Amino acid sequence: MPLPRARIVTLNAALGPLDYRVPDGMAIEPGSVVVAPLGPRQLLGVAWEPERLTTGEVGDNRLRPLVSVLDVPPIPAPLRRLAEWVADYYLSPLASVLRMILPSSSALEGARQLIEYRPTGQVPDRMTPQRVQALAALDGRQGTIRELAAHAEVSDAVLRGLVNAGALEAVAVEGGKPLDCPDPDFAPPALSVEQAAAAASLSAGTGFDPVLLDGVTGSGKTEVYFEAVATCLRAGKQALVLLPEIALTEPFLKRFEARFGCAPTAWHSGLRSSQRRRAWRAIASGEAKVTVGARSALFLPYAKLGLIVVDEAHEPTFKQEEGVQYHARDVAVMRAKFEDIPVILSSATPAIETRHMVELGRYREVALAHRFAGATMPTLAAINLTQDPPPRGRWLAPALVAELEANLAAGEQSLLFLNRRGFAPLTLCRTCGHRFHCPNCTAWMVEHRLMHRLACHHCGHVMPPPRACPECGEEDSLVACGPGVERIADEVAALFPDARTAIVTSDTIWSPARAAEFVAAMEEQEIDIVIGTQLVTKGYHFPNLTLVGVVDADLGLSGGDLRAAERSFQQIQQVAGRAGRGDKPGRVLIQTHDPNAPVIAALIAGDSAGFYAAETEARREAAMPPFGRLAAIVVSAEDSAEAEAVARRIGQAAPRVEGMAVFGPAPAPLAMLRGRHRQRLLVHAARALDVQDVIRDWLGGLEWSAKVRVAVDVDPYSFL
Ligand code: ADP
Ligand code: ZN
Repeated sequence: MPLPRARIVTLNAALGPLDYRVPDGMAIEPGSVVVAPLGPRQLLGVAWEPERLTTGEVGDNRLRPLVSVLDVPPIPAPLRRLAEWVADYYLSPLASVLRMILPSSSALEGARQLIEYRPTGQVPDRMTPQRVQALAALDGRQGTIRELAAHAEVSDAVLRGLVNAGALEAVAVEGGKPLDCPDPDFAPPALSVEQAAAAASLSAGTGFDPVLLDGVTGSGKTEVYFEAVATCLRAGKQALVLLPEIALTEPFLKRFEARFGCAPTAWHSGLRSSQRRRAWRAIASGEAKVTVGARSALFLPYAKLGLIVVDEAHEPTFKQEEGVQYHARDVAVMRAKFEDIPVILSSATPAIETRHMVELGRYREVALAHRFAGATMPTLAAINLTQDPPPRGRWLAPALVAELEANLAAGEQSLLFLNRRGFAPLTLCRTCGHRFHCPNCTAWMVEHRLMHRLACHHCGHVMPPPRACPECGEEDSLVACGPGVERIADEVAALFPDARTAIVTSDTIWSPARAAEFVAAMEEQEIDIVIGTQLVTKGYHFPNLTLVGVVDADLGLSGGDLRAAERSFQQIQQVAGRAGRGDKPGRVLIQTHDPNAPVIAALIAGDSAGFYAAETEARREAAMPPFGRLAAIVVSAEDSAEAEAVARRIGQAAPRVEGMAVFGPAPAPLAMLRGRHRQRLLVHAARALDVQDVIRDWLGGLEWSAKVRVAVDVDPYSFL
């Protein structure tokens, strides 16, 4: 239906929708991706149903004509409805949501060949330090000049010079090579009776059908939801599998390939722009049958979406903390609703919010109560650190050391879990007590001994560890306080000099390729003891891993936010779930100062039902989510007085609404972040209250200078 006049949402978040004239011969429908003029510039935008958005009145004769309509499929109606919902619910500009739908400008251009470059192995006659640096960094890599320059941390000019010197060569990347098509009948597994029943139940639903796939660790949830993917493929539709962490994609891709005969289409931040473009176009045309991605894959314009799976659905990383602060698990369910398709939330440790939906009868539950192939659940025991402490300056209790030794002797693998990157979380001066903190954030500088750096985990600020204390000038007086994984690795090396160890954190596993190397080394039995952060608690399956040690089970409880106990429980249960997944039984030792704390006691008693029931009751009594609503308002500015003044004005303007209370403003626990001072307000509201509407009116009536940022976090997961 061509419109003479079109209402366009541009990708500029500062602008509302704008009306344009549709020139003769141009066909525009709702969802069309267009180029629109704005002043002297041109902007990308999407045509919208005019009746759904209001703009200022502009007479027909004053409208400017659209420049062009792009040769990509229009954004489908269900995705437009989702975009509106996300913008509304998370109080974000529609333009910001559209940016997630159209994240790759190159994808929108017509078919064309992309030129990429790769090293030839030839060394130029004239070498400069930058050339040396670039060639070392680019070994085996391919990409555009931009991408390679960013990776090697040199200028474009250095790379152009290397091209001229013959050290890099151009390669034309084919845009249109057809993708492999996953075959639902390539290698279906022989499912156990329990798995087969679950798979049949998953595949039975059509239309909007949210399901919690609740299976113990090692029960084969992946194999089971793969059957639902197969059903979706047989129906000729597209499936989307969301994973919480890019590091998990590589092992997942291998498993997928074994089941379906070829790799799925991957979508994550690590893609080169040619890959991104190819994936986006294949998704939009319907050619990409199965997409596996990080949370951002949720907003792509699938032509014929038939199924969404959220794997490890309890993971906090599904919450986006910047820009549009959405929760991918919740948005996945909404997308399934608008698309009228099934959605599977898979987890061994489902969130209280998700369980509650099952209790309300809104989600179905499909359970797997047993590990696959007769593997037994691991046994859990606590080590009471007040009774059996490690020697001074050490972190592993004698009982845990003895078990590690026995495991080494038996030729089995062990895992030590500590959710702290680096060597030590705090460095101080022995002489004057000076503590190193980040100049930009309210945070300690964390020592990374392997990189020989002190680093801020919030803003990325790094510095070499100084020899002398900057406060008192005393030399060699700095001491590390507390353990990080690197320090535990040192302790293991001192205890067992012959053991082969690996540290697994986001510092060591920062790409799918590194994750694949780690998995291969584990499978080849080249590693005896893994020391890792939460990154190792997820998804991995190593049959010979039989001992898990939780170095500090009290760590997660100290922050004390709404979900601290739940998160600790999930994390320890997940890391425990790595033990004994093959035919040898697993055991888990949990170091704690308080074995009677409800979380620890429930873990050891294997009483997950009891723990969840108590937590849920506590939430109900306090009217906390999912029984009530929370929204955080974070005000930040480089000038602390300015942030404070605006936060105070917001607080004073808080409307009096029945069923709503406003706390603060108060300085945020992270009072300074990336050089900005932060104030927080917390809104607590009854479930039935449309808190977004209230906040929209409230903040809409106020103004502040452009130097102050006000961000609203609906359903917050971080309270820092
Ligand atoms: P979960 O995600 O529930 O912890 P996985 O899906 O990782 O469990 O399964 C655990 C292991 O068992 C994996 O190596 C998987 O390939 C294997 N497995 C599960 N079910 C089957 C099956 N029916 N046939 C063959 N292997 C299976
Ligand atoms: Zn910092």
